[in-house]
Formats: sequence, C-alpha cells, structure tokens
Amino acid sequence: MFWDKKMETLKSKDLESLQLKRLKTTVHAVQDIGFYRDQFAKAEISPADIKTLDDVEKLPFTRKQDLRDGYPFGFFAVPLKQIVRIHTTSGTTGKPTVVGYTRKDLDTWANLIARNMTMIGVTEDDIFQNMVNYGMFTGGLGFHYGAEKIGMTVIPSATGNTRRQIEMIRDFGVTTIHCTPSYAMHLSEVAEEMHEDLPTLKTGIFGAEPWSDTMRHTLEERLGVTAYDSYGMSELFGPGVAFECPERNGLHIWHDSYFVEIINPKTGERLSDGERGELVVTPLVKEAMPLIRYRTGDVTMLMEDGCLCGRGKKLARLTGRSDDMLIIRGINVFPSQIEHVLLRIPEVGNQFMVYIDRINHLDEMTVEVEINRSHFSGELADLAKIQKKVVKELHDTLELRTTVKLVEPGSLPRFEGKAKRVIDRRSDM
Ligand code: ADP
Ligand code: ZN
Repeated sequence: MFWDKKMETLKSKDLESLQLKRLKTTVHAVQDIGFYRDQFAKAEISPADIKTLDDVEKLPFTRKQDLRDGYPFGFFAVPLKQIVRIHTTSGTTGKPTVVGYTRKDLDTWANLIARNMTMIGVTEDDIFQNMVNYGMFTGGLGFHYGAEKIGMTVIPSATGNTRRQIEMIRDFGVTTIHCTPSYAMHLSEVAEEMHEDLPTLKTGIFGAEPWSDTMRHTLEERLGVTAYDSYGMSELFGPGVAFECPERNGLHIWHDSYFVEIINPKTGERLSDGERGELVVTPLVKEAMPLIRYRTGDVTMLMEDGCLCGRGKKLARLTGRSDDMLIIRGINVFPSQIEHVLLRIPEVGNQFMVYIDRINHLDEMTVEVEINRSHFSGELADLAKIQKKVVKELHDTLELRTTVKLVEPGSLPRFEGKAKRVIDRRSDM
C-alpha cells in the first residue's frame, strides 16, 4: 500500500530533477545561517554554483559538533515566531542539540511517517499504542501525528508502567505498537509473567537504536508480531527517515525528501552502492532547520538491488554509530555483536550489561548476563558449564577473551527508551 504513490516510486530522471530543484532551494535557505555563511565564504562557493546534483560535493559537511556550537538556535533559517515546536536529540553521545519545526515542517514530517506506516500495511482500522517518551524525544509526537494522519486510533501511552501498558494492549485490542527494541524485550518478559499472550497484536515498529536480526526473531516469537525496523534522528525531523517495507530486507529512505551519500568517514570521499560507510544526508524538505550534508555518524550502505515493492534504493540495516564501536585491546567490537551472541544461547536471558575497564594497562571486558531459569538446574556445576559456554561463544565471534558473570534473572536494568548497556570505565582511570 502507498500513502503517496507518485513520490514513493519516482523514477530516476524525475527524481533527480526534483532533488536538484529542492537542493537549490535548500542551499539558498541556509546561506544566511552563520555557520554556512562562513563555510561558503571559506570554500568560495555560492548557491549559484549548484547546477547539478554532483555539485553537492562542493558543499561543506555539517557535523553534530557544529550543531552543538550553534546551541540553541544558531541553525534556524526562519524567525523564531515561525517556529511552532522545538525538540532536542536524546543526547546519547553528548550535549543534546536543538531542532525546530515550522507548521509546514510538522505536516511534512507527519506525511513521511504516514508513508512508512502505510507501507507496512497499517490503516485507519488499526489501533496503535505508542510506547515511547512523549517529551523532547522526537519518537513520541513524531509517530503520534503520523499515525493520526493515517486515521489510526492512537493511544499515547508513552513509557513506564509496563503492566498497565499490557492491560491496555489487551483491553483496547491494540494491533500495532511502537517502542525501542529494548523496551519491547522488557514488555515481552512482563507479558509472559502476566500470562498474557496479546492475540490482537500483529505489527511491531521498533527503532531509535541498533538491534539485530536475532533480536527480531526473539521479539516476533514472544510478542506475536511482524517486526519492522524504523530509523531516524532528530536532526532530520526524527523518526521516519528510513523504514523497512514488507520485504524486510533493507530500509527505504525517501529520496525525494532526503539526499543520500555514503562516504568514507576518514577521507570524506563518496563511496559506491554496496560499500559500507558513514551515512550523510541533506534533507530537501526542511524549512525551519535545513542542513547541508549532515554527517549522521551512522554506518550503513546503499543497497545495489532494487526492491520488489517498487520504491527506491534502500539502506542496509544500521549496525551502530561509528562511535559506538569499542576498541578492546586493539580489536573492534560493536555492542550489537555481543547481543547477537547472547541471544543465541538459550541458557542465558536477553538482558546484559558490558563493562570495560583498564587493569594494569590492559583493557578488560566484563559481560554480565542473566541466567535463564528454565534452562538452569540450580546446580553449581551447571552454572560453571554455562559460564564457560558463554565465554567460548563470545570468543568465537569477537576473538576476544571476556569475563562473564551470570546474574539472577530480573537483576539487570531494563530500559524504557534507548538502552545503555555499555559502561566504559577506562576514561575514569
Ligand atoms: P541521539 O543522537 O542523541 O541519540 P536521536 O534520538 O535523534 O538522538 O537518535 C538518533 C540516532 O539513533 C541515530 O543517529 C542512530 O544512531 C540511532 N538510531 C535510530 N534509529 C535506529 C535504528 N533503527 N537502527 C540503528 N540505530 C538507530
Ligand atoms: Zn520495498
């Protein structure tokens, strides 16, 4: 199903001419923002130099730090009285940055989310429980207005009180939920404790943080949903930037609204389709806070193959931010790899924490994971066996020796929003 079939399936010539027109408008719109005025002057370029889409490479990158330097309103392209809403980023990697929206921006954004949700087959007949923070986090109001635009019945349950969330799903006959994958995992545990199997649920939209395909299978099994990956970031409106279609093999990004480049993060050079690098996006439809070549810090690639659904080129699932990567004794480790290993071991639960310390100048990684009672006899010898198994499986995948601590079920923290499972204590020493 399509929300805006024409825009979603634009063929390359029409798409490129629309992108170029919108790129030119965007470059005009930013020229009075202090940061871009300086950058354009330094590079001796002006909006008139943008004649083809390739000319985008003449333009400067924008980094998160630039937005931090412009805190709070330095990147607004319109007077404050035209800004009707302000959000901030979650601040996962440092000081939160500010984003502003005009009335038109809010409408554009809601339409992009309506495209995503319509793409996976939800309609005005669906009942939607939105279990994310409704404050400054863009996931709450963002999905809320997108779902209302479609005409779904929206339950703005926000986060917290998981038992009550489950009762609402049951009592209201909720069909579609949105939350972080970490929270979905917690939700499924509590539902199990309550002996609720939530038969009306059919669609789970999970995003805002990386999650593995193993996690997808676990969530689908436990919640009885088909799970879709949703990617976005506040600087590019919020959620709705890229989203899986029913093929669930890569995420569609709306090329009429976001101009995509994948670059080598070290050299800034443009990479080809099928090559992994940093996602750089120039939003083409933002009014209050247009940005040029925004470096998302997220790692992905543009997929070479088209999609059976008829929409444009997809992004591969995002495995994590380039700065999520841990370097332990010289070995690169993504927290998502640890999750992947643990989820495949039935003797342990799906909650874990990772601690990194520097002991005698050596990096040491400790993984704490909950034991799964249904696979544990209670015998001490059994415990040692499980622990050895986890150490071995982690070693096989990461090629790294780790210390594994098995802990009581329910003893590790649960997360309502984005999970923070890695505590790097090396800098404290
Ligand atoms: P912050 O950058 O402070 O966390 P946001 O709430 O705007 O603020 O989060 C955007 C970031 O969240 C993205 O840049 C990306 O790193 C991560 N993210 C969002 N959705 C996904 C997803 N589906 N898969 C992987 N990472 C995601
Ligand atoms: Zn598709």
